[in-house]
Amino acid sequence: MNWAFVGASTIAGQYLVGAVRAQAGSDVRWVVSGTADRAASFARAHGIAGSGTDLAAALAAPSVDAVYISSTNEKHYAQAMAAIAAGKHILCEKPLATSIADAADMVQAAETAGLVFAINHHLRSAGSLRAVREMIALGKVGKVLSLRMFHAVELPVHLRGWRLDNPGAGGGVIADLTVHNADCVRFLLGEDPMSIVAHLDATGLGKGVEDSAMSVWAMPSGAMVFSHESFTHPFAASGIEVHGTKGSILARGVLSQEPKGEIDLVTTTGITRVDYDRTGLYEAVVQNFVAAVAGKSAPAASGRDGLKSLQIAEAVRRAALTGQRQTVNYGEPR
Ligand code: NDP
Repeated sequence: MNWAFVGASTIAGQYLVGAVRAQAGSDVRWVVSGTADRAASFARAHGIAGSGTDLAAALAAPSVDAVYISSTNEKHYAQAMAAIAAGKHILCEKPLATSIADAADMVQAAETAGLVFAINHHLRSAGSLRAVREMIALGKVGKVLSLRMFHAVELPVHLRGWRLDNPGAGGGVIADLTVHNADCVRFLLGEDPMSIVAHLDATGLGKGVEDSAMSVWAMPSGAMVFSHESFTHPFAASGIEVHGTKGSILARGVLSQEPKGEIDLVTTTGITRVDYDRTGLYEAVVQNFVAAVAGKSAPAASGRDGLKSLQIAEAVRRAALTGQRQTVNYGEPR
């Protein structure tokens, strides 16, 4: 499978070029950027044959089968719609778009065109989260009473740009990390939050956008979810705790781009360290995408999953801004 990369971004260079090339017979053939110089230097750095600012030219290339979009968030919509119109399968970065209406249009357009449209909620492809999900499904902790997501980190210095000062580009920790938490919770518990109370603030890095948020979600099963996201916490470790009637799962350091962290299962018999698959997360995402295009499986996280994670994140924002509990609206895409 040959790819056009749209967005000469950090994530594309750090992880996705390698993840594509880890698949037999797959390569990145084009990179499209907002500036010709940047496209050319990205192409040089990563040994990509085609580069430029013209998305239409990349999409017209017969050698391109799929498109990976990792531009800033406000650009995802127009770029995805162009790729769909050109009949290309798409792996899109999160959040799908800067508005729920745009995200719904993207999902609908891809479905109508019969194309694979996946979102890079990479944590679903982590062996650690899959192990936690399996333990929950096998009843190892009994009935789940509560789940706590700790995603308060320090934003690395090289990423301190649009995320911290550009609401128009989709900056802020809710667009960046709450969407991931939303997808993780849905993946782990197999249900969608019904209502949310929340608080957000700028606590040192955010300028015109929130850099920290906390929220509590009511789940249909009766489980309570606590979700904490921040860019300003240098010493907090990421993690997930699942607490049930028969045990608890304590997963520390697992909300990462790398296959790392430790998982303990705590029950009446004591503490058991849980082993899990340490395959690279992004390699697994791309492998799954290739299988989805071949009709062998569904994408790990679909466009509809991306739409729901955005609907939940927007409900967190509304709850925080209004001070009122919000019912999450999963209105059908138009
Ligand atoms: P970057 O800030 O690295 O890149 C975003 C855009 O900014 C690029 O497409 C590029 O524009 C421009 N840009 C980047 N670096 C420079 C530079 N040195 N000089 C000038 N312009 C530059 O963003 P990220 O890689 O952090 O994020 C991109 C997308 O990926 C976002 O949607 C984000 O939410 C998502 N993401 C997802 C992750 C995941 O694990 N699923 C992890 C990290 C990010 P142009 O292409 O026009 O040149």
